[in-house]
Amino acid sequence: MSSHYDVLILGAGMAGLSCARRLQDAGKKVLVLEKARGLGGRMACRRTEKGAWDHGAQYFTASDRDFAAQVAAWQQSGSVADWQGKIQAWDGQRFSTPSATQRWVGVPGMNAPLRALADGIEILFDVKIAGLEAIDGGWQVLAGEQSWQASQVVLSTPAEQVGPLLPAGHALATLAASCQMEPCWALLIHSARPIALPFDGLFINQGPLSWLARNSSKLGRGSEENWVAHASPEWSRQHLELTPDKACAMLSRAFGDLFHDMPVDGLPVFKLLQMSAHRWRFASGALPVADLPYALSNDGLALAGDWLAGGKVEGAYRSGSALAAALLA
Ligand SMILES: Cc1cc2nc3c(=O)[nH]c(=O)nc-3n(C[C@H](O)[C@H](O)[C@H](O)COP(=O)(O)OP(=O)(O)OC[C@H]3O[C@@H](n4cnc5c(N)ncnc54)[C@H](O)[C@@H]3O)c2cc1C
Repeated sequence: MSSHYDVLILGAGMAGLSCARRLQDAGKKVLVLEKARGLGGRMACRRTEKGAWDHGAQYFTASDRDFAAQVAAWQQSGSVADWQGKIQAWDGQRFSTPSATQRWVGVPGMNAPLRALADGIEILFDVKIAGLEAIDGGWQVLAGEQSWQASQVVLSTPAEQVGPLLPAGHALATLAASCQMEPCWALLIHSARPIALPFDGLFINQGPLSWLARNSSKLGRGSEENWVAHASPEWSRQHLELTPDKACAMLSRAFGDLFHDMPVDGLPVFKLLQMSAHRWRFASGALPVADLPYALSNDGLALAGDWLAGGKVEGAYRSGSALAAALLA
């Protein structure tokens, strides 16, 4: 079976969906193909009977004017809110307060603004694209027995997932190969009792962990006492191939050790905690900022993604949106 579109977009993360939204609003026939079961990419949420966790992106900032206008619209419609949590930094000896910045979160989960962007857009989930073939007047995108055709294809996957999809030696594959991405192991923690730590988000500047956040301090998460810890890029790289169970065991110990020298009461009771680990193989990384936050070749292929625009959620939005404008121009 084969279907024809104006633009096929691979990936339903912030870059792919901001691109799709703008193209479809301008009248293009667009299809988004996503390998996961839901949208969000690195802004996805994990839900279980113990509540929910934002296990990827924790919050985002909005310094770009267009993105700030979009965030204001999402705030108006209730899919985004200001994170009022108390944010601290810990260097192993003392707390400090990071410089003030407005931190935005999706409501009720980080992927909420993506749901807003995706409204009315045709998306197929559980479709892992295996490759692309040049055809007369465009491209054929292949996944198992299925294929789709378009004159334009946008790849919005993390840089390291671009190369295997493109014809060998393609200039866009060479560009993507020049961007190295770092992994991140995430620890998802559920406590049967409230944990009375004096912060809601903590930057950690020593040891295996680099970040800890109280998920329930973000609007709309419910009352479950759920926390997320992220391992540092160094630790995650060194322990990349652990099984989730082994990573969970090691990070649980690191979580316990974190509090040894911390001047806090209300430490978590470990037997009342349940934990699991998730690996983000391609969590972060970006090329040096260039004039254009996307890459476009004249054969109908284009790249968008955070890694082309400084990394982060805001960069992903800027990349996808600017690419759509270029394709429409
Ligand atoms: C642990 C972690 C913490 C982070 N913290 C923050 C933070 O606090 N603030 C911030 O601003 N940013 C943060 N980020 C980064 C932020 O999440 C990303 O910058 C942003 O979400 C990237 O969006 P994207 O659309 O470029 O890529 P992605 O979100 O990665 O989307 C790419 C999509 O492509 C899909 N895909 C890949 N290969 C295929 C294929 N072959 N076929 C079909 N689909 C495919 C993927 O499943 C994915 O859905 C964090 C990321 C991680 C992992």
